[in-house]
Amino acid sequence: MEFASTWPAALVVVGAVGLVVGSFNNVLIYRLPRGESVVWPRSRCPACGHKLGWWENIPLLSFAILGGRCSSCRARISWRYPLVEAVTAVCVVYAYLRHGLTWEGAASAAFSVLLVPVVFIDLEHRIIPDRITLPGIALGLALAFARGGAPGLWLALLAGLGAGTFFLAVAILSKGGMGGGDIKLAAMMGAFTDPPRVLVGVFLAILAGGLVGLAALASGRKRRKDAIPFGPFLALGGFVGAEWGRDLLAWYLALFA
Ligand SMILES: [Zn+2]
Repeated sequence: MEFASTWPAALVVVGAVGLVVGSFNNVLIYRLPRGESVVWPRSRCPACGHKLGWWENIPLLSFAILGGRCSSCRARISWRYPLVEAVTAVCVVYAYLRHGLTWEGAASAAFSVLLVPVVFIDLEHRIIPDRITLPGIALGLALAFARGGAPGLWLALLAGLGAGTFFLAVAILSKGGMGGGDIKLAAMMGAFTDPPRVLVGVFLAILAGGLVGLAALASGRKRRKDAIPFGPFLALGGFVGAEWGRDLLAWYLALFA
């Protein structure tokens, strides 16, 4: 991380871009599960249908100025909106601070930004939309080519196919315990990384999902047949694997050296 290159003005611009992307993530989270277009029409208040003016659409600021309420009907606006904007901006700023303005930084930012709507939609609706993961796989492969040429693309393809095939096998063996959305999300994770990092990501996802599942069973809050959505665990494992997978793998292998 080179602090010399991270002058404050650049950080502000990168943060603002992150907030705007976060605003679009809110559109995805609301509209994709409802099968609506993400580019048209303009955003409306879900309570009264009031069309939002541009001043009601400024990330974070509008929520603060409006006091978390619709300007027309005074219905409460969900905390999810500023939260998604802030988390998305943090993802973009983190990618910039860690990787700078490089293709690696672009891949890091794009991957984590795509994981935000995946997590929120899966938690609420128990689906992972193809309209995020399929373009995500294509984008991941394109950025792999930009970073590492044909060899980079092959590694990303191998990682995506490997992770996708693994969860396909899990889905078949568990007779539907794993959904098609999880399979495509795992493939997207691979497309944005490479075999070692996706291996760490998948391992961490299963570990985290298993621990939370066991804890839920033990506390009696979930019965065995109540499914816990796996997307958030894949997103968490995928993010850690993508950013620190190589270090974690090196550390783990050194234990046996
Ligand atoms: Zn309203």
